Amino acid sequence: MNIDWPTIRNCDADARHGATIELSGWMIPLDPQADSVDYFLLSADEPCCGGCVPRNPLTSIEVHAAMPIAPQADALTLRGRLVHLVDDPAGWRYRLVDAKPLDLVETPSPRTFSRRAFLTSGAALGLTACAPGRFGGYTEAHDGAAAPTWQPPAGTLTIDMHSHGGRVIVSRNPAIGAHRPFIPLAAPMRAGGMNVICLAIVTDTTVTRVADNRKRFEAWRDPQPGELYALGQTEFQRARELIERQQMQLVTNTASLTASGPLGPCAIISAEGADFLEGQVDRVDEAYTQHRLRHLQLTHYRVNELGDIQTEPPVHGGLTDTGVQVIRRCNALGIVVDVAHGTYDLVKRAADTSTKPLVLSHSALATHPGARSRLITADHARAIAATGGVIGVWPSSGTFKDLHAMAEGVKRVADVVGVEHVGLGTDMLGFISPPVFRSYEQLPDLASALLLAGFSPEEVGAILGGNYRRVFQASVG
Ligand SMILES: [Zn+2]
Ligand SMILES: [Zn+2]
Repeated sequence: MNIDWPTIRNCDADARHGATIELSGWMIPLDPQADSVDYFLLSADEPCCGGCVPRNPLTSIEVHAAMPIAPQADALTLRGRLVHLVDDPAGWRYRLVDAKPLDLVETPSPRTFSRRAFLTSGAALGLTACAPGRFGGYTEAHDGAAAPTWQPPAGTLTIDMHSHGGRVIVSRNPAIGAHRPFIPLAAPMRAGGMNVICLAIVTDTTVTRVADNRKRFEAWRDPQPGELYALGQTEFQRARELIERQQMQLVTNTASLTASGPLGPCAIISAEGADFLEGQVDRVDEAYTQHRLRHLQLTHYRVNELGDIQTEPPVHGGLTDTGVQVIRRCNALGIVVDVAHGTYDLVKRAADTSTKPLVLSHSALATHPGARSRLITADHARAIAATGGVIGVWPSSGTFKDLHAMAEGVKRVADVVGVEHVGLGTDMLGFISPPVFRSYEQLPDLASALLLAGFSPEEVGAILGGNYRRVFQASVG
């Protein structure tokens, strides 16, 4: 359905909330030097110069594109799902999600554009975004029948074990780097009812790149001495700024988790890759004290000083002695140890070393993971569960075609290790291709899919937060 700017201006577009619409306007990227962007503004008016950013929410809307788009000098028409924003901290009234330029819209494919995919990610989103922070209304199941709505049991906290929400990571484009604009985080968390996220900085970004025709990341050069430590400082600073600007609460222990969790969007400072330590174990203490680090993932896309990674041939035979010392420091200080991206050999030694439960924050089960695969075997999952830990299931579109497939993936992990050892790790804004869970506004849909997969409301509460809460309590105190 085509809509025009007067419909936006007089707020009649509120009634189109959740609908797929087409709208023409000028594309205004916030990263002016980016070659392509998947977040930008669409404006009713041609921009007067390259540097000005429109502010009027009735003449510009936010756009989350389905794929990166090169900035266009001419007006373009976008097709996407319109979301009416309520209490958006940046002041925007409308957002177009899954937007595609009209002349690039391809023949519908089962993965991205089927009615099923649209219903599961779209229809319920419309209603829940109007009722911030609550699970309510109805959801449509993928067969078109009414699906169950999850009512969180009393005291439930929803927790995402792994997120780069708000675009906390610096840009790989050195011209933008740490000046990359944030995007809203608290508002979608509120809209979807997500209470807490483990907000993960990344400290190997400057030495990794996308490889194999945009299929995976790899390290492509050795860092300079001090480079990744400095990058860590920058990223921790960005995390702090993001939390402040979004007026989120910082969770540093079980008491603050219990007190702040139910009140509003919260963050636990987390790092994906301990590369910023540069092998110096005492920097764990510094990060704990100065940056409030409470969740540390040992390795990422670079074989670092701590151990081997799934996506590169092993060098160390698993966890190194430095890795062992880092785990001991985390156990002593009160930092959750996350072994995502690590090899099975790394996980086995980590499990032998750690006196606290381990987390593997974002992956999924595969019977025979291929070389360089980020998926894990049943034994790999069992090694985590044996510590009392949690495996976060991720929403990779390479693994799952929609939220229902993801819910079935959660079930497969639960069948192997028990429901008390499964969680959610969205890796928000960390995927190369858009994942099946790309906004916290989809949380009620995921909860509904988990109910349909056969979990009880209490089990859904454990998966969507309770299990991680147990590990956090045991590790951080
Ligand atoms: Zn990752
Ligand atoms: Zn990540």
